[in-house]
Amino acid sequence: MKTELLAALRSAEGFVSGQELCDKFGVSRTAVWKSIQKLKAEGYQIEAVPNKGYCLTGVADILNKEELENLRNTEWTGNKVVYFEVTDSTNIQAKRLGEEGWPHGTLVVAGRQEAGRGRRGRTWESPGHTGVFMTVLLRPSFLPGQASMLTIVAAMAVTKAVRVKYGLDVQIKWPNDIVLNGRKICGILTEMNTEIDAINYVVIGIGINVSNERFGDDTAKVATSLRIEGGGEIRRAELIWAVWEAFEAYYGNFIKTGDLQGIKHEYDGYLVNIDRQVRVLDQKEPFTGTARGITAHGELIVETDEGIKRVSSGEVSVRGIFGYV
Ligand code: ATP
Repeated sequence: MKTELLAALRSAEGFVSGQELCDKFGVSRTAVWKSIQKLKAEGYQIEAVPNKGYCLTGVADILNKEELENLRNTEWTGNKVVYFEVTDSTNIQAKRLGEEGWPHGTLVVAGRQEAGRGRRGRTWESPGHTGVFMTVLLRPSFLPGQASMLTIVAAMAVTKAVRVKYGLDVQIKWPNDIVLNGRKICGILTEMNTEIDAINYVVIGIGINVSNERFGDDTAKVATSLRIEGGGEIRRAELIWAVWEAFEAYYGNFIKTGDLQGIKHEYDGYLVNIDRQVRVLDQKEPFTGTARGITAHGELIVETDEGIKRVSSGEVSVRGIFGYV
């Protein structure tokens, strides 16, 4: 009844009378009042005025399955939503669902992660109620070699969503980090399960720092959050769908050609490294050069004294020569 009551308040133009709600759900006034109290306790701001009824006046940053399903505005991402208040890592859970046969588009979201991971097994700091931790499960028909481009597609989606919705000037540090004022607000981790020449499933995990006020000692130097950078009060559920809405558009573009030719130009416009000196931390042969954008396959083009080099994302990190970017 709580869910239906919330839906009724959401679709109302203003106040809905207590009697109307009683009639609609076939319950007593006391039952309606009790459900309203529960919603208030969860963070929904509901005004109650005698002779007028109830009105939903605001919603705090609530994140749960109901809220996510209620606000969903996408075509296929999140066709199934799996929500955990706490989990090890949304990528681990999405891979498990991948093994169990869950469909293309399934979205896993968590309130908090206890074993959030970045590339090469590094930790992703994931404290409760302050961030977005989510992973989408995809079952694409393209080849395994094309999957690394999905990280670029996802980075574009986060960048676009944050720019359009919150007006913050976020940029991309190639290939998988979103930065704001030189610090990281988002990391992306793509993993896949393949046959020799086919993909069983891919998972794309996205962690966004939303309302963190501080970070642990290991990350404080490189991390920031949307709140710290002036993003104001952000509702995670809205941010989540803004990301997947943008993702669907870029993904459609990527699928049409099987590469990034339709997105590349826009990506280069968001690239924090563009025309800057970068240090490519290749494990065998690190080198320095000037970043000039990406290829249609998502490699970073670096101009060096020995000529142009194309860096593929695999195991490489890129740094500015004086700092993180
Ligand atoms: P780079 O390319 O900069 O070396 P990466 O993109 O490979 O890094 P990831 O593996 O995506 O990095 O993320 C892990 C790293 O990110 C950690 O080593 C830590 O420094 C940093 N980090 C961990 N948690 C957070 C967080 N919540 N916000 C920002 N940065 C974080």
